[in-house]
Amino acid sequence: MLVVAKSMDDVDDTFFLLRTLLFIAGLVILLGALVGGWAIATRVLHPLTEIVLTARTIAANARGTRIAGLSRRVRRPPGHDEMTQVVDTFNEMLAALEKVASAQRRFVADASHELRAPLTTIQGNLSFLLRHVDELPTEERRTMLTDAHEETLQLAGLVEGLLLLARTDASAEMPIAVREKADKTVAGHAQQESLLELDHAVLHLVRQLSRRLSVEGSRLKLEVGRIEPVRVRGDEESLRRAMLILLDNAIKYSSTADEAGAGRVKVSLEQVGKEAVLQIRDNGIGIDAADLPHIFERFYRADRARSRLGTGLGLSIAQTLVERLGGAITAESTPGQGSIFSVWLPLAK
Ligand code: ADP
Repeated sequence: MLVVAKSMDDVDDTFFLLRTLLFIAGLVILLGALVGGWAIATRVLHPLTEIVLTARTIAANARGTRIAGLSRRVRRPPGHDEMTQVVDTFNEMLAALEKVASAQRRFVADASHELRAPLTTIQGNLSFLLRHVDELPTEERRTMLTDAHEETLQLAGLVEGLLLLARTDASAEMPIAVREKADKTVAGHAQQESLLELDHAVLHLVRQLSRRLSVEGSRLKLEVGRIEPVRVRGDEESLRRAMLILLDNAIKYSSTADEAGAGRVKVSLEQVGKEAVLQIRDNGIGIDAADLPHIFERFYRADRARSRLGTGLGLSIAQTLVERLGGAITAESTPGQGSIFSVWLPLAK
């Protein structure tokens, strides 16, 4: 019997080496995967963590009507993937909120300032009158009372304008479906979006204003140009109010325009494509090019308009009302020669 044997040490050594190598390689790969995974996850999730942190900080700092931290922005990760879009959208939302918050702060400050000015005059005049009522000549007393009366009119106009703006803003915030259902009010009147014969509404308003002008003994000529029959969708009260604001302005800023003859205001209504265009032209004081881009801002009044009574709220109210009906108002003007205000409204189908 012959027994042949060979030592397995070589094979065992090779297996051992292989196992060790495999183990070490596996360990390295696992570690690499862990580190890589952790790095990728942190890179991907980091912006999300920042978004959560920013949102929490803003929510925690909101008190009453004050909201702080809107100037914060989340760092934009490199690339153009979904995460970048999320961060960009979040930052855009913050920027929009910041703009609204600062506009609101400015509005409250402006409103308080505008309300305080007439109140100071009224208070001053009345307290002076109370102290010196017996010594003052009748003429001076009358002047002081007239001033105080004019300031009360200004105050009443401001309060009415502010109230109207608040209501218009509140109803613009409602979703359209709720707004239609609410059937509520812009100025305390029932507001229903219905088919409206704009030409009739315009002519009716012009007749009313003509009567008012003749009662007041005004020399201003209120003329009617081309009036085409057009129908639009909208609530009559909003449209009437917007048109009245524009017509009142045209009258107010032209009444002393022409020394040789009285001012002229011309109203026309035409169909242009799929829109109705109501134009109100005047030959009044006009608007400087530097003022023109700002006249629809709340409380904005051009210097050349300041000699006339006004609040600076009319045009912004008219614009809000018209925009709610899907329309727009544009203005053109030549200083010293006159202005044209155009109301564009989509025609009813
Ligand atoms: P208000 O007339 O009460 O000052 P508005 O908001 O109606 O406020 O108008 C803002 C400003 O736009 C006015 O102060 C005036 O400077 C200018 N403006 C508006 N309409 C006219 C117009 N028809 N002619 C000249 N300026 C105008």
